[in-house]
Amino acid sequence: EEEIAFFVRGFTAGEIPDYQMSALLMAIFFRGMTGDELSAMTREMMLSGDTLDLSVFGEHTADKHSTGGVGDKTTLIAAPIAASLGCRIAKMSGRGLGFTGGTVDKLESIPGFRTVLAPEEFEEQVKRVGIAVVGQSGSLAPADKKIYALRDVTATIESIPLIASSIMSKKLAAGSKNIVLDVKVGSGAFMKDSEQGRKLAETMVGIGKACSRRVSAVISNMNVPLGSAVGNALEVLEAVEILKGEGDVALRTLCVELAAQMVSLSFEKPIDECRAAAKDAIRDGSALAKFREWIGAQGGDTAFIDDPASLCPAKVEYVLTAPRSGFIGAINASEVGKASMLLGAGREEVGDPIDPSAGIRLLKKPGDPVAAGETLAILFTSDELRIPASAELLLDSVAIGDERPEAQRLIIDVIS
Ligand code: URA
Repeated sequence: EEEIAFFVRGFTAGEIPDYQMSALLMAIFFRGMTGDELSAMTREMMLSGDTLDLSVFGEHTADKHSTGGVGDKTTLIAAPIAASLGCRIAKMSGRGLGFTGGTVDKLESIPGFRTVLAPEEFEEQVKRVGIAVVGQSGSLAPADKKIYALRDVTATIESIPLIASSIMSKKLAAGSKNIVLDVKVGSGAFMKDSEQGRKLAETMVGIGKACSRRVSAVISNMNVPLGSAVGNALEVLEAVEILKGEGDVALRTLCVELAAQMVSLSFEKPIDECRAAAKDAIRDGSALAKFREWIGAQGGDTAFIDDPASLCPAKVEYVLTAPRSGFIGAINASEVGKASMLLGAGREEVGDPIDPSAGIRLLKKPGDPVAAGETLAILFTSDELRIPASAELLLDSVAIGDERPEAQRLIIDVIS
């Protein structure tokens, strides 16, 4: 513990040079770490900056984290469901980069919504409404930021202990007692196969346990985009559909599971009971009512909840049609994410502006029959010059074959 603390503190303070840390990262990459080493490193990374004390909100603080995907709007759905069932959600979320989106960008497509709250406003809102989601402020786990930058240039990103400590140092610093992780596996995710996903999930749950937090991890499929919308305002609208009990069944199932896990950890209740409660919260409208209350409390104009067409209408809509008949096969999630980015929905570099109206609505899913000329997807953007490159990439990312592909499971496993 002492040696690891020396290393992490020294590196963060600039006293240990990059080449020494690079050597350590490479050793970890090849040799892995023991559970004790990993917990010690994660704890030091957590302690390298601000740590939030959420004890004023009691024992039922719950957070969720996704390892990143395409079309992942689960926070917008699972968090209000969990809040409607008594969890206290005091959450910091990130912005998108590359082909993965960020919850803060999605929320900012709502006119008036404020992603920066003064600390006393944040506290008051969590106590009154049960949920507040803001952009990251202060300096959470600066050691991770510095280590990540070095991992990026030394090809040591894809190491389970390094990914697990990176994610968990930030989640632990963010203060919630109960943490649900959504570990994505597949073509649109960091982890390409479910064995790797399971190892990452088990590792992160273990770190949580060693640090006295309750953590569970849902391992879910990210071979295809999640739901049918990719892009900021489009995803907010899809979240509302789900909270109204409509829309994509797979997306709803995953959000019910994530919310149920948050409630189950927070209140130590059996998971089946929590799944039923989460479904009921959608059915009886209490989750949607909590969403409305939350968005309004942060200054957002809630008109779009009843009038979806009013949220960021795009200047240009383009209908992409199927070039042949058959069955939809694979839809490559990362390519769809890149096609959406080409429309203006994502950013290539930190700080790039984004177009909240831009994105893609997929009208077909793997296994669906399709006829030549039928609509596959609708592309939305403010700039029609962006359409051709995006449409070409999107068309390449959707396979159409003669055979119906086997259905894939969305929820692969839960580790708790
Ligand atoms: N997300 C993180 O925050 N860190 C990693 O190392 C990988 C994904």
